[in-house]
Amino acid sequence: MTHLLDNLNPRQREAVLTTDGPLLIFAGAGSGKTRVLVRKIAYLLEQKKTVPERILAVTFTNKAAGEMRERLIHMLGPEAARVSMGTFHSINARFLRKEAHRLGYTRDFTIYDAADSLQLIRDLMHSMAVNAVSLTANGMKYFISDCKQQMILPDQALKVMRSDFLAEKKVAIYKAYQQQLKTNNAMDFDDLLIMPLLIFEKFPEVLTLMQYRYDYILVDEYQDTNRVQFLFLKALSEKHHNICVVGDDDQSIYGWRGADIRNILDFEETFPNPTIIKLEQNYRSTATILKAASAVVKKNRNRKDKTLWTESDKGEKIILHQAETDHDEAEYIANTIRENHFRGFRYRDHAILYRTNAQSRQLEEALLNRQIRYIIVGGTRFYDRKEIKDIMAYLRVLVNPSDAVSLKRIINNPTRGIGKTSLERLEDFAEETHRTLWEALQYPEEAGLGSAARHRVKSFLSMMVHLRSRLETLTLTDAVKEVLRVSGYQSQYETDDKNNENEDRLENLEEFVNSAGEFEQNNEGATLEDFLQELSLLTDVDQWEDAADAVVLMTLHSAKGLEFPIVFISGLEDGLFPLERAKEKEEELEEERRLFYVGITRAMKHCVLTCVRRRLRYGQWMPSIASPFTQEIPPDCLEKTGFEKQKSRDRFLFGLGERDIERSFVGGSSPPKRKSGSTPSRKKTANDSSTLPLASSRRIRVGDTVNHKVYGRGKV
Ligand code: ATP
Ligand code: MG
Repeated sequence: MTHLLDNLNPRQREAVLTTDGPLLIFAGAGSGKTRVLVRKIAYLLEQKKTVPERILAVTFTNKAAGEMRERLIHMLGPEAARVSMGTFHSINARFLRKEAHRLGYTRDFTIYDAADSLQLIRDLMHSMAVNAVSLTANGMKYFISDCKQQMILPDQALKVMRSDFLAEKKVAIYKAYQQQLKTNNAMDFDDLLIMPLLIFEKFPEVLTLMQYRYDYILVDEYQDTNRVQFLFLKALSEKHHNICVVGDDDQSIYGWRGADIRNILDFEETFPNPTIIKLEQNYRSTATILKAASAVVKKNRNRKDKTLWTESDKGEKIILHQAETDHDEAEYIANTIRENHFRGFRYRDHAILYRTNAQSRQLEEALLNRQIRYIIVGGTRFYDRKEIKDIMAYLRVLVNPSDAVSLKRIINNPTRGIGKTSLERLEDFAEETHRTLWEALQYPEEAGLGSAARHRVKSFLSMMVHLRSRLETLTLTDAVKEVLRVSGYQSQYETDDKNNENEDRLENLEEFVNSAGEFEQNNEGATLEDFLQELSLLTDVDQWEDAADAVVLMTLHSAKGLEFPIVFISGLEDGLFPLERAKEKEEELEEERRLFYVGITRAMKHCVLTCVRRRLRYGQWMPSIASPFTQEIPPDCLEKTGFEKQKSRDRFLFGLGERDIERSFVGGSSPPKRKSGSTPSRKKTANDSSTLPLASSRRIRVGDTVNHKVYGRGKV
């Protein structure tokens, strides 16, 4: 028993021992929240003799769940593997396999990822002849997701919406989308969260069963739950109230995806008589890193105040390096990593974080040039590649023939001469006779197809029916191989004139077969449905196998919950981080600042921030200045390098409008200081006084030396 409480401070211990009733562990970064959660589960199993299946633990990624499971197995043995664990999505998907029939879906329903949903919306908008310029498929997808995250169903949408002239159109598309999903026997990511609640509402007996199914519910990263997830937790814990959530309002970074920071801020009001435990000692970072991070996040107004302290040494200062271009920035980072490697650090001790995925390209190049091993988390995902999506579409149709999005993807892929017109006729027939597209394939004649097309449709259908029957006897891996072979999908790339693209595709397909094999090995009795579900729910971080000694590159969002000895945060420039659009709204700016806080607090020993003087964006050189966030770090925590005053003085100002300059200096005074954080407050230096402020009356000509609010002094 004692080992369960080893290496925990008194507050952490209390958090582990408080098992009954609502508990909020509210604490800053690196204070041991996740550690406490794992110990608590161990304590429930070992001391309270709770049956593993009766504990439900929710994590933010599948990878985090996997790690938790491994730690528990390590502490307590294989029994611990039986704890119910996963993300909201994977837990709900499991639940829905059993219960979705109550809402008219079969257990084989398909899970649509973002790209599938978008495709469906596009098709619908096309067939509904929606061509309003201001209504894009992407915008529509965002709208639908937004509604769903707030639990607003199509029937209610019009009532609660701000009336805008497109409102009715949008709701009509939303409605059609939802209907089509049902016809396709498919759910999107948001449905996975909503459907269980609808089942609870309609079938109270199912809810009761679920309330008795788990004795303890534990949730990590609670600050990033959305409204629907909150309602799910509330419903499930209503009987026993044993809900323990851990989180940090300062690390809420998914507001743009519907996360509701109020869930954590209002915990006390929602769950009766909660215990609240604050953890204040940070075990992860040096004192300097912690001080810098705390100072930054304190600038936010919408937060609960908390203190974080550490016994760690001060450590080294945070480096803020300014490079000339993004190319130079990448060179600087790669060189630093190489030096660290010589000094004895492993590659895997390094993480490079950035605001947007596009920033990874330059970094990759610099690392490649030095033969430094690296892994990119996110970016172009393996499972997003065309050939992988294609083969998955085959498998999906075989499991769930109603899935029209997938069916349309493969019906003429490889080419079988089933053209657009034939497909449209089949779709029309399906719609008019209330059949699925798959069912319509059985009536090519009635659908008005010519005799050649009829023949082709028939042979496609019989091939698929044959494959479906084969699935019953084959193992998962053999099934995948068989589909690749029989469908002709693979052989279309096995041509004589081997080109690189075809070889890549074949390699990827082979890799896919391997992944099926691996899945089969790790999951006894795994079915094709299980495999597809797992693939649909993979997050970026889940695809990262961190066994290799490699530098890891990822967005700041993906880095949540992780830690590394050395962290680089690149692209710390005004307009990139914080993003330009976030600067207009206080709320969004605060979320960007929290993201910066998350980034800094990933670092254990060293934190290096980089920015550039000009960056190539959309094919154009953009002059850049350091992010205002960098100025929120106390100067004694920071060491600046690469800021060459000389260089910045006489450089060209790229593509500046005259108005920018005039507006900045009307009246010849220095620019007015705006609300904190909204613009970088430029430090006044000796140079400034020697600059002629621009008189508003004078016109600016090419070659003039000017002083600009944002870009500083330079020649036009
Ligand atoms: P985040 O907010 O980033 O999710 P967290 O609060 O979940 O962080 P953990 O990841 O659990 O924090 O812990 C941070 C680090 O501190 C880990 O390396 C963990 O092993 C270590 N740690 C936590 N508590 C203690 C302790 N009492 N003694 C020694 N190390 C600890
Ligand atoms: Mg954590």
